[in-house]
Amino acid sequence: MTCSVWRPYCQMKIAPPPMPISATEGCELIGTNGERWIDGMASWWSACHGYNHPHVRSAVTRQLERMPHVMFGGITHEPAERLADRLAALAPGDLNHVFFSDSGSVAVEVAMKMAIGHWRRRGRTSRTKFLAFHNAYHGDTTGAMSLCDPQRSMHARYSDAITQQYHTPLPRDTDSIELFHRTLEQHADCIAGVFVEPLVQGAGGMRFHDVDTLVRIRDACRQHDVLLIADEIATGFQRTGKMFAVDHTVDLADPVVPDILCLGKALTAGTMSMAVTLARSHVFESFYDDDPSAALMHGPTFMANPLACSAANASLDLFEQNDYDLTGIECVLRERLSPLQKHDNVVEVRCMGAVGVIQFREPPNMQQVQDELVRRGVWLRPFGDCLYTTPPLCISREQLSTVCDAMVHAALETQPVGA
Ligand SMILES: *Cc1c(COP(=O)(O)O)cnc(C)c1O
Repeated sequence: MTCSVWRPYCQMKIAPPPMPISATEGCELIGTNGERWIDGMASWWSACHGYNHPHVRSAVTRQLERMPHVMFGGITHEPAERLADRLAALAPGDLNHVFFSDSGSVAVEVAMKMAIGHWRRRGRTSRTKFLAFHNAYHGDTTGAMSLCDPQRSMHARYSDAITQQYHTPLPRDTDSIELFHRTLEQHADCIAGVFVEPLVQGAGGMRFHDVDTLVRIRDACRQHDVLLIADEIATGFQRTGKMFAVDHTVDLADPVVPDILCLGKALTAGTMSMAVTLARSHVFESFYDDDPSAALMHGPTFMANPLACSAANASLDLFEQNDYDLTGIECVLRERLSPLQKHDNVVEVRCMGAVGVIQFREPPNMQQVQDELVRRGVWLRPFGDCLYTTPPLCISREQLSTVCDAMVHAALETQPVGA
């Protein structure tokens, strides 16, 4: 294996070598000697329909033969037009304006520029900051990094080099609700928007909250007239049991419709890097003017890449054709992981849709945990104090049970680091 690769989130000096994978099939990763592992991560939440799905593969192959890429400045193409229409139709409310980019972090940067630009056009030029929550994760680029939890995230070490934003705990009890409102009120002059990962905070700690919290955040944004920006890069495309996590509010009298919505990860069914930022009409209209300088000045080179758009369109076809049993997946996760709930070293086992999390009091040696999982034919990447799975939505009951049983065994058989 080459040693010229600088690997992600990795202390190159001491990390064990990465696992070489040479093929994928269904829900499995295939090693260079034909060994197979069930991918309980769906490649960082992205391979929602499993790997090498024939429908996605043939759509991308056809697109590859016709037109792999073309610039998006002054040019358009059918795969992008069709995808934008379909995403606008799927997203709640009037989230009808779709801006393409090449990764989730960039979609977050675009959302920040949309929000700042929106207020600038309305004369509120001091509104250039954001409020985000403790344990938040919004990406790795510098703007997105500034939104991540300032203490607990892996970006803490860059804190003196990035923009300072406002961070509060999620408003879930009397004190945190009070602090959230007070922060918004005191800094309403400089806050352009509130960023939230609805219902599931991902890479910042795999924490869950609820519809009431989401509604409370929306109501506060309304009250203080700041934008609500939902980062559904991880939670989108049925991960939490509904197409989008905000869809858990559809049955309320006043459902939550964020002003801006970011999607990525599963957007192309794990095939290619692409993300989108959707804006509601009132945000879009702030930029809609005879004045050219009022335009949104952003445009990645590979914006709306036709291969990625064709993969995303094929993925949406599959969501239309398949009725994934997310309730069933959640039940299996609950049933198989809950025995750990009573374990002394387990803070909590939590499951929502196709997300299952074991949070430890004293984290075990995660390398040992991972080695044990791999021995049992399962690929997961535990981090911090959590061992979690976000499997492909098409995972079979049997495969899911194998993943969960491996998690339970690995958790029980591995000693806490401190022990
Ligand atoms: C993964 C993720 C991002 C960043 O997406 P990339 O494609 O890795 O840049 C942003 N926000 C959330 C919630 C994510 O899970």
